[in-house]
Amino acid sequence: MANNTKKIAVIGSGPMGLACAYQLLKNNHQVDVYEKDDRVGGMSACFDFDGLTIERYYHFICRTDTPLFDLLNELNISEKLCWQDTKMGFFYNGVLYKWGDPLHLLAFPKLGLISKLRYASHVFYTKSINNWDSLDKQNAIPWLTKWVGKKTYQMLWDYLFELKFYEHKDNISAAWIGTRIKRVALSRRNLFTENLGYLEGGSDTLLQTLEKQIKAKHGNVFFNAGIERMMTDNNRVQGVVVQGEKRFYDGVVSTMPLPYVPRVVPDLPVEIIDKINAIKNCGVVCVILKLRSPLTENFWLNVNDPEMEIPGLIEYTNLYSMPESIVYVPFYMPQTHPKHQQDNSSFINEVLGYLHRINPAFSKDWVLATQVSRYEFAQPICTPDFYDQLPPMQTPIRGFVMADTSYYYPEDRSISESVKVGNTLAHLMDHQVN
Ligand SMILES: Cc1cc2nc3c(=O)[nH]c(=O)nc-3n(C[C@H](O)[C@H](O)[C@H](O)COP(=O)(O)OP(=O)(O)OC[C@H]3O[C@@H](n4cnc5c(N)ncnc54)[C@H](O)[C@@H]3O)c2cc1C
Repeated sequence: MANNTKKIAVIGSGPMGLACAYQLLKNNHQVDVYEKDDRVGGMSACFDFDGLTIERYYHFICRTDTPLFDLLNELNISEKLCWQDTKMGFFYNGVLYKWGDPLHLLAFPKLGLISKLRYASHVFYTKSINNWDSLDKQNAIPWLTKWVGKKTYQMLWDYLFELKFYEHKDNISAAWIGTRIKRVALSRRNLFTENLGYLEGGSDTLLQTLEKQIKAKHGNVFFNAGIERMMTDNNRVQGVVVQGEKRFYDGVVSTMPLPYVPRVVPDLPVEIIDKINAIKNCGVVCVILKLRSPLTENFWLNVNDPEMEIPGLIEYTNLYSMPESIVYVPFYMPQTHPKHQQDNSSFINEVLGYLHRINPAFSKDWVLATQVSRYEFAQPICTPDFYDQLPPMQTPIRGFVMADTSYYYPEDRSISESVKVGNTLAHLMDHQVN
């Protein structure tokens, strides 16, 4: 080992863990990645869907995802990044409307001209925000209502909030909603054309390349190797316990969802554990369908329909063309929600019951395959003042740094943000151990 080389364990092989491990190896450390699953990727992992390798959850890329573009460049896989003009729809009270550009907004019959102008000016204003500090202090619903008016809020946002956040709906940061609006609004070829990206081969193209690079730099990735506990000595990292075995390290980086950290690192000070426990998360149950024919022409279909308990559906193959149509239908919900306990077949049946409403030609013989993916902590609930609520990435235990998707705040989850935070963790670790 070179003089400044340290032994580092990285917990989790999602894009954040892999990006961090790759950076640490470039900085000449010796790195072992531990993954409790049987594959890389976490939320962006792929699976075999009836002969097709595809992500457990839909993934699109936006034009502002710079940290991802930099990494693709460095890994020499930029040519795998493809861009596609995409369409958006709005299924409102049983009718499918075209949505997502000024002409379709003008043509939408359910809002008056003033409401449409207010809606458009809100998007224009939000696109221009660079400093989110004041919106971090504000609640999303009053902020949206002030801009677009009560009627438009009810029509476009309320059901979405209800179905995504349930009892947390009245306590969501305006900054978090604002960055979501801005990211998608900036991913356009022009005012009239949304333009989104994907990786040829899906997110696996990035994940597999990172794994290969880690191994080429003599790092290890261990699967089915959930870290049970992190060992400390005198407030310093000593190592980890995996499958009952103690392994010794100079530093540990955690990229597993934050709610798991108190169990694995019980030696953290109580103030940090309290902060972690105060952050709430939603899980996701995502139904995936392979259909013989396309359901609609839209990539993203927003839904506000009293007979459908879903906020939207994503027809992935309208972004990344494939012979059959792939549709994702996410149900976000806190684990406390009674529906969360339902089995997979009831979620599939619920979705199949909705499709005929969206496309009357749909019949069950279109369905070639179905799958349900579940992730326990899929979406942190970013409340107002969230900056203050996050515990520090650099913890008081020397040699232990941590982050998860909450640290993208005010940005929403994205692979690009995972890469950015993974790089930050590697940088912090370098300082901790040197
Ligand atoms: C429904 C959905 C839609 C999404 N859509 C998009 C999109 O369109 N575009 C986009 O860019 N991003 C999207 N994302 C977000 C993207 O998937 C995430 O930002 C990214 O995968 C997070 O990576 P991560 O490494 O930070 O965390 P994770 O993916 O959560 O990885 C954490 C890893 O830690 C592992 N782990 C947990 N406990 C332990 C333990 N004790 N020991 C070892 N390992 C452990 C887990 O198994 C997991 O592999 C979406 C996510 C979801 C859920």
